This record gives sequence, C-alpha cells and structure tokens, in this order.
Amino acid sequence: MTTDKATFDYIVAGAGSAGCVVAARLSENGRYRVLLLEAGDSDRKFWIHVPMGYARLFADPRVNWMFESEPEPELAGRTLYQPRGKVLGGTSSINGMVYMRGNHADYDEWRQRGCTGWDWDNVLPFFKKAEDQERGASEYHGAGGPLRVSDQPVRWELAERWIAAAIEAGLPANDDFNGERQDGAGHFQSTTNRGRRWSTAAAYLGQARNRPNLMVRTKAQATRVVIENGRAVGVEYVADGRPQTARARGEVIVCGGVYGSPQLLQLSGIGPGAVLHEYGIPVVRDMPAVGADLQDHFYVRLAFRCKKPITMNDIVNNPVKRTLAGAQYVLFRSGPLSSNGVCAGAFARSDPRLDRPDLQLNFTTWSFAGRDRTGVHAHPFPGFSVSAVHLRPDGRGTVHIKSRDPLAPPAIRFNFLRSREDVQALTAGMRLARKISHQPALSDYVAEEVLPGVAVETDADFEASIRQNGLSNLHPVGTCRMGGDDMAVLDPRLRVRGVGQLRVVDASVMPSVPAGNTNAPTIMIAEKASAMILEDAGTGGG
Ligand SMILES: Cc1cc2nc3c(=O)[nH]c(=O)nc-3n(C[C@H](O)[C@H](O)[C@H](O)COP(=O)(O)OP(=O)(O)OC[C@H]3O[C@@H](n4cnc5c(N)ncnc54)[C@H](O)[C@@H]3O)c2cc1C
Repeated sequence: MTTDKATFDYIVAGAGSAGCVVAARLSENGRYRVLLLEAGDSDRKFWIHVPMGYARLFADPRVNWMFESEPEPELAGRTLYQPRGKVLGGTSSINGMVYMRGNHADYDEWRQRGCTGWDWDNVLPFFKKAEDQERGASEYHGAGGPLRVSDQPVRWELAERWIAAAIEAGLPANDDFNGERQDGAGHFQSTTNRGRRWSTAAAYLGQARNRPNLMVRTKAQATRVVIENGRAVGVEYVADGRPQTARARGEVIVCGGVYGSPQLLQLSGIGPGAVLHEYGIPVVRDMPAVGADLQDHFYVRLAFRCKKPITMNDIVNNPVKRTLAGAQYVLFRSGPLSSNGVCAGAFARSDPRLDRPDLQLNFTTWSFAGRDRTGVHAHPFPGFSVSAVHLRPDGRGTVHIKSRDPLAPPAIRFNFLRSREDVQALTAGMRLARKISHQPALSDYVAEEVLPGVAVETDADFEASIRQNGLSNLHPVGTCRMGGDDMAVLDPRLRVRGVGQLRVVDASVMPSVPAGNTNAPTIMIAEKASAMILEDAGTGGG
C-alpha cells in the first residue's frame, strides 16, 4: 500500500505487549495510516503458541533478545539473565501467561505520585475493555475484548493439594486474584485461548493485520527518532540490513519495552547528558530520568521432590509420556501442554502490619536445577516448585547505552537487595512456602525440600541463600516513568516532556511496579494510551 519512505499518521516502534495494542487501536477507525516496526520476526513458530512451550522460548535467540545484566553488587557480583521477546507480540509471545493486575492500591499510589487519571477507578475500565473473561463480565471483569483470559484447562492434582495446604497454613481461599481482594490462595488464570497462548499479536493483530491502513514491518529495528524543531517527525530504522526512514505526520509512539525504549530515546539524544556525551550523541534534551528508576520484583525458588510421578518433570523425562502429551495436544489441544503450568499461587503479607500483600507465591508443576541463558533443565525426578516473590522491593537501577551502536545491548543494573526490608520480606516468603509444604494436605506428596534444603534454617542462612540464588522475576518497569513532577520522563498523558509528538507506551512508563505480574497492566496502559492519542487527535477515546 505504501513505500517505506511514505509518510504515516502514526509510527509505532516495537510490536510487543503494548505496541500491538496501540497499532491495532490507532488503525481501527480506518482514518489513520499506521506503521508498526518490530525488530524481531513473525510469530509463526509452533512453540510460541503452545502454552507449555514457554520453557523452550526462554533462551531461544530466534525470538528472544537474551539480555544479561551487569554484575549485581549485593548478589556477590552475579549477573542476571534477562529474556525479552524479540518477535511479534514481544514478551507476551514468550512469557508465562499469568493474568494478574496487581493491587488496586498500586494504581491509587500512581495517582498520589502525580499520575492524574491512573488511579484504580480510572484504570479499571481499560482492564475491562481489553478483557474477554472466560467467566463472563462482572464488576471487575470485561467480556468481548480482544484479550482472552482463561481458567486453567487442566486441574493438576498437586496444585489442588498445594492450595489446600496453603489454606491449612492460614491463608484464606481466593478464587479471583483480579477481583475485590488479593490476599489468599487459589488458581491463577492465564492469557490463553482454547489451549493456545494469547499474546497481543494473536489478540490484537490477528484481524488488524489485514487493514489496508496498517503496515507491519518485521525485522525492522528503530535506530533513532528523528526530531526537528523540538518535535518527533519520523523514525530511522534498519531493515534488510539497510538504513531506512519513515516520516510521521501525527506522532511517534515508542513501545520498545523497558530496555528498548530508554535505549532508543538515548540514541535519539534524549537522556542523561553525561551518558550521551560519553558516546558522542548530540543532546536534544538532557533528561536524567531516561533509563533511571528501573524496578523489578525479586524472587527465590523452593524446589520439592514429589513422592508421586505426577509432575511435568515426569512427562518431560519420559519419552512415552512426552509423546502421548504431544499427541493429545496436537489432536485435541488439551492435556498438560495446553496449561501454562503456573497454575496456582497465593498473595500474603511478610508482616501482618502491612496494609496489603507484598508477597506472591507461584506454584509450578515442575522443578529444575537452574534457569539461565542455557535454558530451563528439569530435575530428573518428580518435582514441583514454589517461587517466593517480593512485590515491593526497594532497589532502583538503570538502563544506559554502552555503545553508540544502536544494535548493541544496553547496560542493565538493578541494585537488588539494597535494604534490610528486602531481605526480611523474602525470608518471610521462603518460610511461608516451607510452612505450606509441611501441611497435612501435602504429606502424601512432599518427599523432601531440595532447594534451598532444610539445612537453611536461621535468618543468616536464608539471607545467604537469597543472595546466592535470588533472581529477577522478569517484571522490570520504570525506565521512562510518567509523573506529575518535572523530573519524570513523561507527563500523565505519556508525552515526552519537552519534545512534541512523541510518546512512550509500554511497561517502562510505570512509576512503580504493581504487586502482581506486568503483562495485563502493560496492556491496560496501551489501551488507555490509545484512547488518549485518539482523543488528542479529535477522534474520540473510549
Ligand atoms: C520469561 C518471562 C515470563 C514472564 N511471565 C509473565 C507472566 O506470566 N505474566 C505477566 O503478566 N507478565 C509476565 N512477564 C512480563 C511481561 O510479559 C512484560 O512485562 C510485558 O510483556 C512487557 O511489555 P512491553 O510492551 O513493555 O515490552 P515487550 O513486550 O518486550 O515489547 C517490546 C517490543 O519492542 C521490540 N523492540 C525493542 N526495541 C526495538 C527497536 N529499537 N525497534 C523495533 N522494535 C523494538 C521488541 O522486540 C519487542 O517486541 C514475563 C516476562 C518474561 C521475560
């Protein structure tokens, strides 16, 4: 329909959780020509669409940026592997598919920090607009939206027992963590649709891709936002090994994610002056907050040997069971491969005096010795895991370019475990996960705690284990944060301060990480941003 040099109304850089939503919504009324640029390839790969295929994408360079952090000072200099989707759908094409919004109070806190319009009452309509809830519409849920949210297709015996044990350990039962109340134990819902992963590429681009006014370019990496007279007027990108330029009549919307977005802004001269000078990039606007305020959940995993061969390990490690599970999936799209495996969990408080949960326990139907850039390797015995995730960590880090080469990865620093409170909360989380494993409901199932093992007993033991084994929970946010203050990168309408026609829309805009998973909040942000962009263009929000 157009050539690459054509002028578009909107250019969206990055087709991830947020970018697919924005491109689909802006092209919906047919009045605007939209270009969607994605550095990765199409999502036509078998394992992307199989929910249990998640582990296979964890370290696959064909769909994954496979970033690595800089050494972490409080983790004995360990670096932390950072998978991120590099494919249509972005990280929603490789993530664990847990549908979790966080606590209502998280959003009220955003409002208190100057993000007008982002309190719970104002964001709930956009969570609902996105949603197609399997259980139907309600006060808290939407039906008929693009994003299918499903109950677990498989009831794992072990997950049922674990929930029962959590209740025996004193947690209330909770059958909807995205409803009125967050505390308690229960089943998780997932962004899957009839046994398939429901990424934003599937949910939003599926139909939209056929629109004549939407051009989707894959293997096209944005290298610079072109800024003239203080306004964004286009994007330079590399596709097919060639540098190319597209012009934007309306706006440029950067959706590169928590690492890609600050990197692209910095390469375009918007960022901390000292960093830009170091790499010889002309400063368009000196903004120290671009790439600052990186925040992520931190977690430690407990692994248990199971007395019965009923775990995912037993399927992965047994060729006959593996073949049967594969056949069941291919023929009927059911069985263990149709489950995302992160099927149950709990929210709890590390200290009863807290006003809301600061711990998430994730139960998974498998256990493994390690997960890093070499992949995920199941234990050779029946096993399951419980991750204790700290949802309100104090650490703040940075994402800065470390080369003027736009194709080089940025430097990522988290600064995890900088406070005593972080260590204490995680210790409480691990103790709770262990307590649950000792309850009667699990006595016929738990053979032993394999990781960290019962030798870890005192506070000092737990701290050592946390520093040695703790990991990023892969929910980084904040590197282009919005706020009411002048230091914030974005105003609450997600416009870059001091640069016209330029917005950022993705997880990087969050002023603090919500107490849950981050895909649903990112999609909510993209829905709300799209409505604001259309409203500012005079063609209605909603
Ligand atoms: C392994 C893993 C498991 C997870 N599990 C869950 C889960 O179960 N539930 C949950 O809610 N959250 C989960 N998350 C987190 C969640 O998926 C992310 O927070 C969310 O997808 C972020 O969306 P985004 O739009 O900000 O970024 P992304 O989805 O990463 O999108 C950014 C896109 O921009 C592209 N891009 C970057 N730079 C450029 C450029 N210069 N030019 C062109 N394109 C570019 C990227 O290739 C990518 O497609 C998980 C994350 C990981 C890594």
